[in-house]
Formats: sequence, structure tokens, C-alpha cells
Amino acid sequence: KVRVRFAPSPTGPLHIGGVRTALFNYLFAKKHNGTFVLRVEDTDQNRYVEGAEQYIIDALNWCGIPFDEGINKNERFGPYRQSERKHLYKQYADALIASGNAYYAFDTPETLDFHRTDHEAKGKTFIYNWHNRLKLSNSLSLSAEEVKAKLNAGDEYVIRFKSPQDETLHLKDIIRGDIKIDTNILDDKVLFKSDGMPTYHLANIVDDHLMEITHVIRGEEWLPSLALHYQLYKAFGWDAPEFAHLPLILKPTGKGKLSKRDGDKLGFPVFPLQWTDPVTEEISRGYKQDGYFPGAMINFLAFLGWNPGTEQEIFNLDELIATFELERVNKSGARFDPDKIKWFNHHYMQEQNDDELAEAFKKQHSELVDIDVNYIALVVGMIKERATFISDFWELTHFFFTAPNSYEEKDSKKAFKEDTATLMSELKNIIIHIDEFTVEALQRDIKGWITKNNIGFGKVMMPLRLALVGALQGPDVFDIMFMIGKAETVKRIEKAIS
Ligand code: GLU
Repeated sequence: KVRVRFAPSPTGPLHIGGVRTALFNYLFAKKHNGTFVLRVEDTDQNRYVEGAEQYIIDALNWCGIPFDEGINKNERFGPYRQSERKHLYKQYADALIASGNAYYAFDTPETLDFHRTDHEAKGKTFIYNWHNRLKLSNSLSLSAEEVKAKLNAGDEYVIRFKSPQDETLHLKDIIRGDIKIDTNILDDKVLFKSDGMPTYHLANIVDDHLMEITHVIRGEEWLPSLALHYQLYKAFGWDAPEFAHLPLILKPTGKGKLSKRDGDKLGFPVFPLQWTDPVTEEISRGYKQDGYFPGAMINFLAFLGWNPGTEQEIFNLDELIATFELERVNKSGARFDPDKIKWFNHHYMQEQNDDELAEAFKKQHSELVDIDVNYIALVVGMIKERATFISDFWELTHFFFTAPNSYEEKDSKKAFKEDTATLMSELKNIIIHIDEFTVEALQRDIKGWITKNNIGFGKVMMPLRLALVGALQGPDVFDIMFMIGKAETVKRIEKAIS
């Protein structure tokens, strides 16, 4: 039974890369009738940010990819906050010491710094491993009595994993295939600290095991930790889950990793929802507030590193679930293209229900408070093909609701000629005499009059359009006249020639 988890650290708002990781976990879980778990990795209290956890939950819900199991939901394997699981981890660190896979180290930060700088000066990198261990202060270099004395005295310590000398590790990644690692390049990573807190590595492995996670799907930045994680599973005698490391998301230029800063700098959101920094009160834009549809965002994110192998680009969530395969995820970085997500949004706009769009549009414009929402929905249906966001609507539709109070200057030069006033008042008379005010009747009578008198369409249509819209653009003039009605049409024509 497939069980996957999304395990963010609540260090700030969830960025687009995090949403992509959550989405791929969600798709994989749903595809295999599995469970999508949310676990909050909050062991690093220095980096904890107020509100970040709720933001993550809200963001997943808005995107339409809620977790099945986690905080306040089907808490079978809870608690799901690592800070609330604190008491669990020490015994596992102790077990690794007992089995010879880990050891106490008492080195001060100053000592470690000294070694690092000293190595650097010689053009080398300092690695805390078999090569250097015995020169340092730890339970492999000190006598049992010395170690005991230090622990009894309450000296600060860390517990380090003892990585082996001269071995080759064979790791597997669903996306990257087989990976070979020489253990001599590995650090003896810290697993536990004397403040009682595990590090990410220990807590992550213990929890994945206890929560019976079968597949770990996460960002490429965790690939360097894979060797340690494999060794930890082996040291505990546990079966390791399968791993899949998703490719980096690159800046729009294709150079370098997309960062949380890029959004504000380059003028597009990198967060699903708006975020207010609790300390600086600085606001970062969110896709929701910028007018994106969650389906468009999800569709866009699915293509950041994955493709179906066909030409199809539009996928709703169910289609993504049916089509998604980890084997089709790329190794190479995926370029983030803010124009592409607009393209998706334009597409999803066409699939939205006009009544719902009308409701949302009405809320955004005080001019629309007294206007019947059914009328607004008809208008929206006529113009949404040219809109990417609901915020584009007003510009495209205002003349359906209010008469133009001025005319574009270059347009009126083009449309208003010497004979325009005469033509317009004749046109007005024709319109007044149309009893059944339909698009068909308007077309029949007006076009008939133009042809019969050999007037030339532009001579009538251009000033008419200007009178109705205020500019030489917009939808079909017959549709506009029908929508605003006879009285308003006549009024606008009169105003234009007065
Ligand atoms: N807490 C880690 C993060 O913030 C989880 C990494 C993992 O999935 O193992 O991404």
C-alpha cells in the first residue's frame, strides 16, 4: 500500500517548488490508491516562523490537493509535528551508539572552525570522518571514562553517524537510476544534539519508518543526503523506502535555481497565496490574489519536470492522476516560465462557469452593485475569450454597463466625418422603428439600409461603434446594441452627434 508524505519545515510560506513537490506526492498517492501524509518538520526552532504551518495547509487546500493524513486529520500515526514527537528520537540515537553506528562528539564550534580554516588554507576540505576523527574529541578518540565524565559533567555534545571507510554505496533513485557513492567523501553527520533535539536526518528517517512511508518524493536539494539516509536504514535494520528526487526549478532565464526572492524582483508570484511576513510585515504576492485559477496553477506545476510524452498540455487533476508517472519525470532542471502559467490561466478561464465569474467580477466593481448578475454573466460569456484574469473584465466590458463619457481621440478622427451626423440620425430612426429588438432584426434592417443606399459599412459601423463603446474596439456592435437595449442605444447615438 503506497504511503507518501510531504514534509515541509515551517520556515516561511510554501513556495512554488514546495507546491510542486506536494503535487507530485499527491498525484502518485492518488494514482496508486495510496495515502498522502503531511508531516511538519519543525525540529529547528531557530527557523520556526509563525503562521507558516497554517499557510502550508491553506495553500494545499486552495490548490485542491489536500492531505489525507496529518494534523487534525486521520491521526493514525500522529502526532505529525516533529516538535511533538521529540521524546521519540533519543532512543534511536542511543540504539545507533549501542550498535556502533554512531558516537558522541564534544568538539566546540571553535575547534571545528579552526580545522576548517586550517584545511582551507592548504586547499583542502575538512571532513569529519575516519580520516580526522581520532584527532578530535569524541567517543572514538577518548577513553570510556573520559566520555562518561564529560556526559556526567553536562558537557554539550552531538551524536554523529559513523560513516564507513573505503566502501562504495549503491543507491537507487526512481528518476536518476543507480547512483554510486564513495563513502570517503561523506561527513559523519550530526543526528542528535544535547539540547534533546534530533537533526533533520534522524527525525526524518525515524518518522518515515514509523509512519510506514513507502516512497520518498522530494526536491533535488536532498539528493546529497540520500547516502546518509540509506546508511541509517541499514544501521537500524529497516527496509528503506523508494526514493525519487525531483529536478530543480530554474529561473525564467534558465540560469540558476528559482528563489523565493525572484518573485518580488521579477514581478510574478512564487507563492500560491499571499504572504505577510510576521516580522517585517512585507507582503509577497500569491497566485490566488493575482487572479489565477488553482487548476491552471496545478496544470502548470505538473509540467515543471514532468511531461506525458504526448502533445496534450491541458490536464485537469483527474487526468493528471491517471497519466502521472514518476518514471517520466526528468533529471534536468525545469525552467519556470511566468508567461506559460498565464497561457494556462487563459485556457482555464474559458472553462469557468459564467455565473461564477460574474459573481466574482461583480464583487470587484462597485459600478456593478445594482446590475443583475444574469446580465453580467451574459456579458462575461461574450468577452472572456479575450481575458486571462477576471481583473481584465472591466476594461473589456465597461460599455455594457455605463455609457462612454469620452471618445478616443485618434479613433474619433478616423470615424467622425462630414456626413457622419446625417448618417447617424438616419440610423437612429431605423433603430427606433425596430419593434422586435433582436440581433437578427438589427442586422437585417441596418445592413439592408446600408446596402440599399450604397453607403459603405465603415462609414456607419465606425461611428456607431465609437458611440457605443467610446473606442474602435470591442465585441460585435449588434450584440452590444442588443445587450444595452434600444433606449440606451439611441441615447448613445444622440450623444455622439450632439
Ligand atoms: N523538511 C524537509 C524540507 O523542508 C523535508 C525533506 C524531505 O522530504 O526529506 O524539505
